[in-house]
Parts: sequence; C-alpha cells; structure tokens
Amino acid sequence: MLPPAFVEQLRQIVGRDWVRDDPAALDAYGQDALARIHPPDLVVIPGTTLEVSAIAEACSAREIPLTVRGGGTGYTGGSVPVRGGVVVSMERFNRILEIDEDNLLAVVQPNVVTGVLQAAVERVGLFYPPDPASLEKSVIGGNIAECAGGPRAFKYGTTRRYVLGLEAVLPGGEVIRTGSKAVKNVVGYDLTQLLVGSEGTLAIITQAVLRLVPLPPARATLRATFPSAGAAVEAVSGLIRSRVVPATLEIVDAASLAAVARYLGEELAPAGTGALLLVEVDGLAEAVVEEARRVGEACRAAGATEVLRASTPEERDRLWRVRRELSPALKTIAPTKLNHDVVVPRGRIADLFDLLQELRDSFNLTIACFGHAGDGNIHVNFMVHADDPDEMARARRAERLLFEGVVAREGSISGEHGVGFTKAPYLGLELSPDTIALMKRVKQAFDPKGILNPGKIWTE
Ligand SMILES: Cc1cc2nc3c(=O)[nH]c(=O)nc-3n(C[C@H](O)[C@H](O)[C@H](O)COP(=O)(O)OP(=O)(O)OC[C@H]3O[C@@H](n4cnc5c(N)ncnc54)[C@H](O)[C@@H]3O)c2cc1C
Repeated sequence: MLPPAFVEQLRQIVGRDWVRDDPAALDAYGQDALARIHPPDLVVIPGTTLEVSAIAEACSAREIPLTVRGGGTGYTGGSVPVRGGVVVSMERFNRILEIDEDNLLAVVQPNVVTGVLQAAVERVGLFYPPDPASLEKSVIGGNIAECAGGPRAFKYGTTRRYVLGLEAVLPGGEVIRTGSKAVKNVVGYDLTQLLVGSEGTLAIITQAVLRLVPLPPARATLRATFPSAGAAVEAVSGLIRSRVVPATLEIVDAASLAAVARYLGEELAPAGTGALLLVEVDGLAEAVVEEARRVGEACRAAGATEVLRASTPEERDRLWRVRRELSPALKTIAPTKLNHDVVVPRGRIADLFDLLQELRDSFNLTIACFGHAGDGNIHVNFMVHADDPDEMARARRAERLLFEGVVAREGSISGEHGVGFTKAPYLGLELSPDTIALMKRVKQAFDPKGILNPGKIWTE
C-alpha cells in the first residue's frame, strides 16, 4: 500500500486521469512478453519531462520503487515491477520531433513505435536499421534500454550504433543531456552509451537523437535449404569468405521448420531439410546483383538442396513467411517456451548447434532454434509443459548447461533480450565478481537509493 499523500502528490503532478490503480491496469502494466505478472501499486502516465522529473523526485523522497515501461514487449521481465511501487508508462511520449535530412538524424520521444519511425524516415529516403521482430509494438526507449538487435544487426549493427544523444531523468529527479546532434563527441565519459542497454536501471530516457542512414536503393532476397544445420553454417562461412556482408542472414532449424509446417498445414521447404537460410543483400543495384550471385554460389558449394531468389515483393513475402510464422508455430510443439537469445562468435555456431543436440539427447527435450546466423545470435527455445515438473526440471538443468556452454565458447548468455530478472541468477557465469562490483558502483552513482527498476540484473 502506498501512502495516500504520495498518491495524491502524483495525481497533482500528472492530473487525475493519468494515474491508475484499477485491477485491470495493475495487471496489464505488471507484465511483459514473458507473461509473469507482478502488479505495481500504481500506474502513472506522465506527459512531459518535468512531470517525469517530479515523479522521480517524489519516489526518491519516500524510497518507493519506480519502474519505467515502454512497449512492454521485453522477454526478460525488464518492465515488470517485481518490487511493486510505481510503474511510469511513457506512452504519451510518442512523437517524432524532427527528421533532419541534412544531418541524417531524427529526434524522437521514447515511446515512438520502432516500425512507425522506420516508415516515417523511409518516406523521405532514409533508413533506421535496427529491426527487432517486435517492431510493430516495441518502442525506441525500450529498444535503447535493451540495446535491441534484429536480423539486420550483422551488417548495420544494433540500436547502440544509432544513438547519438539522450535526454534522461535520474532517479533523484535531475534532468541530464548526454551526447549531442554531432556525430563526433568525446567530451567526458560516454554516458549515452552507458545508458544504452542499461535496462531502465540507471535513468528514464525522455528524448533521443538517432542517427539515420540513406535507404538502400536495391535489395535481393534468397532462401537456401540444406540437409543439416552444419551445412547451413558452412554456407554462412563460405559467403563471408567471399566478402559478402548480407543485410540479413537468418537460420531456421529442422524442429522450427516442422512446427511451421504443422501450424500452416503445408510444407514450406523440401522434404529432409535440416536447416534453412534466409539471406538478404542490399545496396546499389549492381552490387546487389553481384552479391546475390556470390550468396547463391556459397550456398550451393556448401550443399544447398534448393536456392530460391525472390523477384517480386510477393515472392519476397513468401520466402520470409517461414520466419514470420515461427512464433505462433512453436506453440504447436508445447504450450510454454523458455526462450533464450544466446550468442557465440560466428565461427562457433556449428559448435553451439552440436551442444544443443547434446542437450536434446541427454535431457530428452524439444529445443527449437532459429536466429541471426550472421552475428552468432541464436534464439534457443526450450518447448515445455509448465505443468510437468520433471520436464521443467530437465529444462532448467539444460538451460544452465547452455549458458555455461556459450560462455565457454567465448559468447554471451544474452545478445538481445538483456538480463531483467530471469537471467539475473546467471550473471556470475559470465561476469567476474570485480566486474559485477564495478557495475554496482555505477548503479549506486546514478541511483543511490536503489529505487529505479529494483530486482533487475542482480538478484540481491
Ligand atoms: C515477438 C517478439 C519478438 C522480439 N524480437 C526481438 C528481436 O528481434 N530483437 C530484440 O532485441 N528483442 C526482441 N524482442 C524483445 C523486446 O521486443 C525488446 O527487448 C525491446 O527492445 C523491448 O522494447 P519495449 O519498448 O517493449 O520495452 P519494455 O518491455 O517496455 O521495457 C524493456 C526495458 O526497457 C526499460 N525502458 C523502457 N522504456 C524506457 C525509457 N523510456 N527509459 C528507460 N528505460 C526504459 C524498461 O524499464 C525495461 O527494463 C522481441 C519480443 C517479442 C515479444
């Protein structure tokens, strides 16, 4: 229960209509895509930076937990208020303030939906490359806080590469500005990049200056099928050896393909397919023609059973269909998905696939994998029945071995989704005690009272 005087103070700050404590709101704002509910005590929906600052100051004065919410599509519980308190939803911060064609940048409020920004800049021939698959719902602030990636990260990098500057509110209410509109800026510590990927634990982002690039004029889409995941990975190495950096390079394994076939009631790949690659190259038209040729060649050299190339937007859509339908299709395997986004150096993907096969065999589990072969970021989905304690226990043991395995292979337990509270118990597998202690001192400097998004990244 929050003190009534505090609740009244927040109503005064944002207006009564923007404070909610009805059960439906507390439920809705108490979960993200992970679907594990911890309701807040109150939801507050500010409209200006000054209001955000006043809310933070009020929470800080009474040491009340404050959790920021963007689009609520996180997979690790980042915006879930595990310690209760106040959820600050940024949904009214949804305006694109500026698209600056001369300086190739955009200034946006944090709750602009990623796909909306992309469409807006593409209308003037510009491009915002970060493309999480959640882009119809996730927002720029959440993408920055998680350093979201996506299929295009191999060629274009993740969200980090596109953030030039930020306006943010510290947990004590102070408003800071980091970076600038200039592409070069080396004055002081790089707080912009420190806030990128900080999972809403250091500051509340209220505005962002984003870098844009010219929209590539041409693109080619290819889909190649292989008898095994190993052959597909060999094709990836081959096309990189032929000096092609595809805009997207997605891999889908046999378990995932089978799920899509079952879900759609039709086969989208030739019988016996062990893995499939979806490859897109983009750039100037002449370069695209040559790169597409090299991609086809590398795939065939690695033993592709079929290489298709889209020549119309409809065909492109058809080739992407298998990837798009994956999420709902996996539910045909089992109702619950323990979803991980591990990453290894690209040269070790084959090794990671071997590890996953060992885990399937040793623990008798269905593990469906797909992901970004270009940057070694593979989405590993343990498909389980939450009401089967034996299967859940086997999955949890396998999960730990997976995390240990990726760290041993010089990778990371998360390439995209962050730590949140689900991966917090595993932090020590990847980071040394000294590194964790330093991170905690950084947190302490930003948030001495520990009110901002408590219970995330660390377990204690
Ligand atoms: C179907 C699906 C597909 C997905 N695909 C991808 C993918 O391809 N790549 C990928 O990287 N992720 C993916 N995700 C995960 C998720 O979409 C990303 O982590 C995304 O960046 C979260 O954005 P959001 O706006 O939903 O943030 P939320 O879930 O609302 O919040 C995420 C974190 O950001 C913090 N936060 C939000 N707004 C702010 C702010 N203004 N200031 C400070 N902190 C803030 C929150 O406190 C929280 O810690 C996917 C999720 C789903 C459901």
